[in-house]
Amino acid sequence: MRVLLVEDDDSIAEPLTAGLSRYGMTVNRVATGTEALAAPRAEMVLLDLGLPDIDGIEVCRRLRRSDDIPLIMLTARGDEADRVIGLELGADDYLAKPFSIRELVARMHAVGRRTRPVAAPRSEDHLQRLGALTIDRRIREARLRDDVIGLAPKEYDLLVVLAADPGALVPRRDILEAVWEPNSFGRGKTLDFHVASLRRKLGDPAWIETRRGVGLRLVVQQP
Ligand code: CA
Repeated sequence: MRVLLVEDDDSIAEPLTAGLSRYGMTVNRVATGTEALAAPRAEMVLLDLGLPDIDGIEVCRRLRRSDDIPLIMLTARGDEADRVIGLELGADDYLAKPFSIRELVARMHAVGRRTRPVAAPRSEDHLQRLGALTIDRRIREARLRDDVIGLAPKEYDLLVVLAADPGALVPRRDILEAVWEPNSFGRGKTLDFHVASLRRKLGDPAWIETRRGVGLRLVVQQP
């Protein structure tokens, strides 16, 4: 995959370029909005919103005007307004810094799947319906019946990992790898904590079945 990385901060861009190359991607890195708009077409754009010349949101808008290339915004935490505007302007997803390469690559694949074929109008592909539960991947939101359930980022990620194959037993190790930074200390306990909290928010513990010492599975509850 040919990726256009728009990021002015070398300390982020350099490891990111190296990391994505390890996943077999070809990265064209530029540091300004002007260069981004002039760059040859890539298959995916990773766009930092805080750029030195043109505002990232504006870059997003202009890229979108001429092309519907898949685009993921890279935001600093707390830029909620930017994130909402970006998604409205047609960004496919966003990732708050700091993030892991693994997390980014997973998002890139998800966005790539969703945006192909390129010419298709925006559909409801970003919505996953699981009985009483709906997951909206575009805005990282889950709804139970029609009510939004306020999930912490890791709770949402955990839910999405389980929802990737509803009913399937997902090994603990896979969940830890997908949701948490490698080697992050105490993540086993953290997982248990998030499972408990997610169960509570889903209103029925039956949503998540624990196989002790093995893994977890999402058991879809009908409305
Ligand atoms: Ca920046």
